[in-house]
Order: sequence, then C-alpha cells, then structure tokens
Amino acid sequence: MSTAGPTRVRAPITFTIDVEDYAPPGQAVRAESIVHSVLDALDGLGARGTFFIVGELAQSHPAMTKAIADRGHELGLHGWRHVPLPELDPPTLKADLDRGIKVLEDLSGASVSGFRAPMFSLVPESRWAVEVVGDAGFIYSSSVLPARSPLWGDPTAARHPFRWPNGLIEFPCPVVSFGAVANPYLGGTYLRLLPLSLVRYGLAQAAGDEALWMYCHPYDFDPLEPFRSRPELGKMGSRVMWVGRSRMQRRVARILRGRVGAPLRERCEAVPS
Ligand SMILES: [Zn+2]
Repeated sequence: MSTAGPTRVRAPITFTIDVEDYAPPGQAVRAESIVHSVLDALDGLGARGTFFIVGELAQSHPAMTKAIADRGHELGLHGWRHVPLPELDPPTLKADLDRGIKVLEDLSGASVSGFRAPMFSLVPESRWAVEVVGDAGFIYSSSVLPARSPLWGDPTAARHPFRWPNGLIEFPCPVVSFGAVANPYLGGTYLRLLPLSLVRYGLAQAAGDEALWMYCHPYDFDPLEPFRSRPELGKMGSRVMWVGRSRMQRRVARILRGRVGAPLRERCEAVPS
C-alpha cells in the first residue's frame, strides 16, 4: 500500500505581459530593453507566453515586436493606444483593431488571435465591444476583471473561461476572494506587493475550471527607473507603481516553476463551446 497522499495537480499558469510604456514626451522608451530581459528570463524558464502589445508601440518599435514573435511567443493586441474601452466608440475601436492587427501580422508573419482591453475595461457599459472585437477576427479576449475595482471591473462576470454570445472566448483575470472582497493576485502590482504566501493562497483557492495566467508590464521589471510622480495616479499610486520591482523577476520564476502554461491562444481549444 502506498503511503503517499493524493497527487496534487498544479494547474498551469500562463505568463502574459501588457507591453506599454509611460515615458514622458521627449524621454526614451524603457520598455524595449526590459522586454529583451524578460525574453531572456522566459528562455531560462522554458516558458512561452502571450505578449499583448499596444499597437502604436509595436509600430514605433518593430525590432522589439518582431523579436517577441521570433522567440516563440504569441503576440496579442492591447489596443492601438492605451485607452479604456468606455472612452471609445464602435467605429473608433474597429479602426484601432484593424490597424493594430495589420501592424502585428506584418511584423510577425503570424495571425493575431488575442485582444486584451487596456485596464481590463470590458465592463457592462462597454459590452458593445464584444461584437467589434469578434468582427475584427479575434478568437479570444482577456479583458474582464471579475471583481469590483476602483478602475474597471465586473463582479457579475464568471471566473472561468467562457464564450460570449458571438463565440468570442473570454479568459477572465484570476481573482481570489478574501471574505466578501475579490482581488487579483497574479498581476503586476499585486504580484510585486503581496506576500508570496497570499499569492500561493490564491493559487490554492482557484477552482478547477479556472484558467490561470499572470499579467505584468515592462515597468514591473524595471527597478532602475528613477521614481517619477505620475499626477494621474496621485502620490500613493505613483509609489505603488514603483516599489517591489527588483524582486519581480525572481517572483515570476518561483511561481511559474514546474507549472508553465502555454500561450493563451493554445488554451482556447480547452474552453467548452
Ligand atoms: Zn495596459
């Protein structure tokens, strides 16, 4: 008789990153060098991930964009500019998506399947975007935060992958409940600031039908960027954006070790129709 306990299945976690940059006008974009160091780190982990990139950044940094695809990762679109969906209208979004897809496909030679709305801004008031994203040819979206949020969130949304009425697949952002409050825990700021034990708690609480993925941004891996106050975030928000960066790469490696998931495009087939 075996004395070993039941085998614990560790659900795979996909690495995703939202490639955007906040360099003030006239200052150099920092994202490009950071993306290259992230690519090296992913090679070390044997991980292929999904890079959602802002269209105009892809256009202005073709070598970076091409390198992401050439090194085996999936390219997805993170809007043409980093504007939340509720601030757009259907014709503007459609034009943005068409332009973004063309830039990414021309640079990578591969088709683009995934869209992530800036700031998870697919909420009830921007639900019109589901049709536009589907009509543009995307297979999946990763744009919903199924929790209350001071920015954009939809606490009524499912936590497991689902299909919108037009067939577009949605991979909601993983969240964990602490009592009545649900929060992301596998994403940039949370991943930098939460005790690792809380991240592990979140992973242990995840239901079997959830698709786990982490999300981050180039700045999360950029401890050398001098602190800069960002008026739109306030004093506290600017600090939160800045602290904990030096440990980010190490944390990502610890969380992914032994449970690297495939790029999101390759996980679509597992979503029930
Ligand atoms: Zn973003």
